[in-house]
Amino acid sequence: MNHDEREERRQVEEWSLNETPEGFDVSYITEYLLEGFTRCEEPCISRIQSGEGACYCVRQSFPNPETYELYKALKQESAKIVALTILSKVIPQH
Ligand SMILES: [Zn+2]
Repeated sequence: MNHDEREERRQVEEWSLNETPEGFDVSYITEYLLEGFTRCEEPCISRIQSGEGACYCVRQSFPNPETYELYKALKQESAKIVALTILSKVIPQH
């Protein structure tokens, strides 16, 4: 394991132990849901080593894994709402 890998692993560990900051502002999650958040450019060493859920860009955008999970759950929900909205327009109402 070279130095960079060790440092990457240390940062992921530190990030995964982070508490959700007090008075955590969830409004920026809404912003990410609407506009997305900035991902690293491919190929991304961090993503290869740490996986999609702990990649550098995710760690930059979310204070800890729980917040990122919350974001993903909300994103799934909002995708369902969008799908239902589209379906309700396509399927004739009686
Ligand atoms: Zn990334």
